[in-house]
Amino acid sequence: MKSDLNAVKIVQALKKRYPQKADMDLGNPEDSLIATILSARTTDIQVLKIFPSFRKKYPNWKKLAAADVKGIAASISSIGLYRNKAKSLKALAQKLLNDFNGSVPSTMDQMIALPGVGRKTASCVLSYSFGVPSIAVDTHVFRIARRLGWSKGKTPEKVEFDIKELLPEKLWSDVNRTMVRFGREICVGGNKPKCWMCPLAKFCPFEPKTKEK
Ligand code: SF4
Repeated sequence: MKSDLNAVKIVQALKKRYPQKADMDLGNPEDSLIATILSARTTDIQVLKIFPSFRKKYPNWKKLAAADVKGIAASISSIGLYRNKAKSLKALAQKLLNDFNGSVPSTMDQMIALPGVGRKTASCVLSYSFGVPSIAVDTHVFRIARRLGWSKGKTPEKVEFDIKELLPEKLWSDVNRTMVRFGREICVGGNKPKCWMCPLAKFCPFEPKTKEK
């Protein structure tokens, strides 16, 4: 498969700098799926704060499928979009029990057919829990890929496919995992990336690069 040498060097540099696993990679597909759904438009810190008590109350799909939506919503009310997320989680639990015998499926097509699961969430869980090379394009990956000149795409899906053209499959899952941290620390949102302290500056076409004040 063709790949772009600079893009490969960038991901390798990010891997060295950010060796940690993703915050929503919780060690099994059930927890990772629920946590990733909860993390939409919410910080990972907020999700991790409520997650243990949520799982204590709803330790399996059966409990979640049988639960009252209002009760689910009350247990996640400190995070964004909690009412919609409560509805999705109940429907997700019912679908997994009915169609997958309670197991989380491991293909993109099956995942994106689940309630509350889009390509981003599916890509996260596929890479964390099933080792399927995937690129979850969240707000950080979207912004940074465009600044690096990897894509001019206007949708996450277009950016995902553009990045896949530049990198060998074995690096796909490192993109989101590392860029989330890089995007929080250095290539931050707004018009204020910290280019002066960026280890990728020599590879990056973004202009004008910002200077330390
Ligand atoms: S040089 Fe600036 S814009 Fe480019 S990746 Fe680094 S922080 Fe982001």
